[in-house]
Parts: sequence; structure tokens; C-alpha cells
Amino acid sequence: MARYIGPVCKLCRREGEKLFLKGERCYGSKCSFEKRGFAPGQHGRTRQGRQERESDYARQLRAKQKARRVYGVLERQFRRYFGLARRTKGMTGFVLLRTLELRLDNIMYRLGYAADRAQARQLVNHGHVLVNNQRADIPSMLLQAGDVVTVSE
Ligand code: SF4
Repeated sequence: MARYIGPVCKLCRREGEKLFLKGERCYGSKCSFEKRGFAPGQHGRTRQGRQERESDYARQLRAKQKARRVYGVLERQFRRYFGLARRTKGMTGFVLLRTLELRLDNIMYRLGYAADRAQARQLVNHGHVLVNNQRADIPSMLLQAGDVVTVSE
């Protein structure tokens, strides 16, 4: 699957909050959001602090984009996850987030093998990860309860 290769800090500025997409850098003084916390683009600074009423659509769109950006998933795959969540029994939002959390790259990040999800994705892509003693090099692989994740020697 494809991945986003554009400027990353711009995404945090667009969402108006830190998404922690760059590992160590996000915790230091080099964080772009700390320096320029306004939205990117020509009108980003002028809109800063202005009280505009957000429509329901705008709120939902921003929430969706944020989830996509945090987990590093592009639109088509995210739509597929949503379709899956909608067909599954339970609260759709909860099932969707659970599905995203079960991605192999996210699990590697949560286990602390990588500083951010992009790094975890590379770790998986380069074949350093074994799931149930078999090489797994697909970052979007969904794990199940009981799966054993190890790092190859
Ligand atoms: Fe976002 Fe991290 Fe860039 Fe800061 S350094 S803007 S938290 S990605």
C-alpha cells in the first residue's frame, strides 16, 4: 500500500494539535507546532484565534483526518476499515479504532520498538518482524489475540 510522503509537521498544524508523528523531535524545542502553531497556508495565520462556528461536517472531517494521519493510513484503506467496522457488531467508532490499533506497525510502535509509527512501518517493511515465527513484512497486517510478535535476530 502507498503511504503519505509529504511534509509531516504540516499535518499537526492543520489539525491544530500535536500528533507526535516524528518521534523524539516532537518532545523537543524543534517541534514545528511549538514554533508555528497556526494552520499552514496563506490564511493560516490570519485565521488564528478567530472564533468561527464549525459545522458538524467540518468537525467530523477533522476527526476522520486526524485518525488517518495518526495511524498513517490513506483514504482508500481507511474507507475499507470503516466499511469493515460498520459491518461488524458493536459501536462503529470503537470497532474502527480497535481495527487501527491491531495493525502490525501500530503494535510495534506500542511495544516500544520504534519512536513513531513511520519508523515501525519501516521496521516491518524491511522484514525484521516475525509473527508466530513467520516473517511478516506487511505493515497493515491485522493481528489477533494470542499472536506472538518477535523481532528477528
Ligand atoms: Fe507534529 Fe512532531 Fe512535527 Fe511537532 S515535531 S509538529 S508534534 S510531527
